[in-house]
Amino acid sequence: MGAREQFYADIMATHPEVTGSCHLVVVKFPDDTTTRFIVDCGMFQEAKYNDAEEGHDYNKDFPFNAEEIEFCLVTHVHVDHVGRLPLLVKQGFRGKIYSTAGTKVLSNPAILDSAKVIRNTAKRKHVKPLYMETDAELALSLFTPCQYKETIKVSKRIKATFFKNGHLPGAACILVQISYPGQNSINLLFTGDYNNKNMFLDIPEQLPSWVRSLPLTVIQESTYGTTDSTSNGKCFEDNMIRCLKHGGTAVDMVFSLGRAQEILYVLKTMQNSGKLDTGIPIAFDGNLAHYYTRLYQNADELNIKSGMRDFLPENLIFVDRTSRASILTSNEQKIIVTTAGMGSYGPAQMYIPEYITRKNCLLQFSGYTAPDTLGGKLKSTPVGKPVEIGSIIRKKEAEVAYTTEFSAHAKADEMIAFLKQFEGLKLVLVNHGETDTKTAFAEHIVEEVNPKCVGILGREYMFRVNGYGLVRQFSSKFK
Ligand SMILES: [Zn+2]
Ligand SMILES: [Zn+2]
Repeated sequence: MGAREQFYADIMATHPEVTGSCHLVVVKFPDDTTTRFIVDCGMFQEAKYNDAEEGHDYNKDFPFNAEEIEFCLVTHVHVDHVGRLPLLVKQGFRGKIYSTAGTKVLSNPAILDSAKVIRNTAKRKHVKPLYMETDAELALSLFTPCQYKETIKVSKRIKATFFKNGHLPGAACILVQISYPGQNSINLLFTGDYNNKNMFLDIPEQLPSWVRSLPLTVIQESTYGTTDSTSNGKCFEDNMIRCLKHGGTAVDMVFSLGRAQEILYVLKTMQNSGKLDTGIPIAFDGNLAHYYTRLYQNADELNIKSGMRDFLPENLIFVDRTSRASILTSNEQKIIVTTAGMGSYGPAQMYIPEYITRKNCLLQFSGYTAPDTLGGKLKSTPVGKPVEIGSIIRKKEAEVAYTTEFSAHAKADEMIAFLKQFEGLKLVLVNHGETDTKTAFAEHIVEEVNPKCVGILGREYMFRVNGYGLVRQFSSKFK
C-alpha cells in the first residue's frame, strides 16, 4: 500500500435529516495513528428521531465512543447543533470545544436552558434526565473561543479556521486542514447552517482567495435545497397592517435567538416609516429571548454591525411572569411578540389558547413549524373548527398566518452560487436536509456546479476522503 492510501479521513453525519447535527471525522495517518473529532453535537428535535416509545431515541447515545473524541468544533449555537455537548461530557469527552467568541457567549444561556428544559421534561415523564446542569457547566468550561479568519492548531496535524456566516451572530463555516509530511493536505469545509445575509451582520460576499483555490471537500447543508430565493412571498408586514387597522391584536411567535431580534427590528422600521402607530404597545415575552436581546445590544463578541445595536421599537414592554396575566386578559389593542417559535413551548403556550378564540386577532408564525407542534396543528385546522391545545379544546376564531420570509438559511440558488466560488472543488457531501431534499439538491449540484463527485451524508455511509477527493464510500457500522 502506498502512503497515499494510508492517509485519509472517514466522514459521516450521525444525523439522518435536519436536526441532531453531528459529524464524525476519523483521520488515519500514514504512521498508523488515528485522530477522531466531531463537528457540532446537536439535539434531535424531529419527533421520529427522539421518541423512545417509537424505538427511535437517537438522543440518548452516540454512534461513537465519546472518550475517543480528541476535540469538537462548533459551527453555531442552535440547540440542534450544541444541545448534546453536555451528554458528550457526561460520556467522558474532555477535549476542547472550539467555537467563535460569539458562539461561546451565546452558548451559556443556550446550554444551561437546554439542561433546565431536559430536567423539567424528565420530571414530568418520570424518567432520568439525559444530562444534568453540572454536565452542562462542565461542557461550557471546555469552550475555547477563536477569532474569525484566524487559523488555529487544534491537533498535532490539524488546523481550523472559522469564517463569517450569516445564519446567526457567532455562526461560522469551518475549514479543517489535515496535513502529513510528503502528502497532499485534506481540506474539509463545513458550511454549518448557512446564510449569505443577516440584517444584524456584515457578511463578506466571498471567502478569501486562498480558501477558494484549495483542493476542497465541502460538507454542504441543504435545508432549503428545493426552494428558490425568488419564491419567497413576503406577507409579515401586510398581515400586521391588516389586523391592526381594524383594531385587532397581533401575536407573533418567534424563536428566542435571531428571529425575536429580527421581528423587533422590523416593527421598529414599520414605526419609523409610519406603517405602525407607536401608540400600540408591543409586549415582548420569553426570558431567553430577553437575555439574547440584551446580548445583541451589548456583547462585542457578536459583531453586530454599526447602527444595528439600537433595534428596539418604541413602546416595547418586557413581559415577565407577574405582568403576563394582565397582557393575557386585557382587551386593549396590542402586539405580542413571544417565544417559542413553533408555539409548543414557552409563554406562547399561554397566549395561543387565549387569543385563538378571539375573532379580531392574528396569530403569526415567522419560522418553520413542525407538523407535530402547536403551530403545525393550527395550520391544518379551518377557522370556526375546534382544535386541541394541550388537553383543552378551543374554537379557532383568529386568523393564523405563516411566513418564511425571515429564513436563516440560504435557498438552493444561493447555495449553488456559494459552491461555484471554489476553483478546486473535488467533492460535495450534502447533509442537513429532509431525505428527499438532500437527493434533489445533490442532483442540482451535479448539474449546476459539476464537481468531481457529490455524495449524500447520513447515518448509513462513511465517505473516505483524501487530498484528491473521494476514495470510496462504505457502510457505517455502529458499535
Ligand atoms: Zn441553525
Ligand atoms: Zn441546523
